[in-house]
Amino acid sequence: MRCPYCSCENTQVRDSRPTEENQAIRRRRICEDCGGRFTTFERVQLREIVVIKRSGRRVPFDREKLSRSIEVALRKRPIQPERIERMVSGIVRQLESMGEQEIASSVVGEMVMEALKGLDPVAYVRFASVYRDFREAADFQEVLGEIAGGATSTREAGVVPPKIPAAGAADRKH
Ligand SMILES: [Zn+2]
Repeated sequence: MRCPYCSCENTQVRDSRPTEENQAIRRRRICEDCGGRFTTFERVQLREIVVIKRSGRRVPFDREKLSRSIEVALRKRPIQPERIERMVSGIVRQLESMGEQEIASSVVGEMVMEALKGLDPVAYVRFASVYRDFREAADFQEVLGEIAGGATSTREAGVVPPKIPAAGAADRKH
């Protein structure tokens, strides 16, 4: 297994144990080159799902890729890795239970946003901004409005909403 920090292949398994009610094996790994520690999960894959990208290209569904994009959104947020894994598992099960062999990437994206909305509002805004390709401050306002409309307000949860870029900030790029 390649090290996610330095990309070398000198990594060792330090600990291996069943998790998620014996539906997965969790392995703690350490990189011998940079000392980086990371966790991998091994689980059964019953069915191949194909994702149809916006470009129309078809690619095999990649759980790791989904997991990574969610981890990026949750970077430095106080969420346990196990919690993230459960969320990813939930999304994969939802996709599997749709019974379709081909699923549009937009369906996967909306599922992730739905799950993140309940888990962490900041990660939700981060993911939505990348996924929906925000170009204007109004897009942020819209998503923040969606969060505020939820059962738990961001203020109650003790979460400071991310800064909204000043109007015109996006225009400067042109
Ligand atoms: Zn390394």
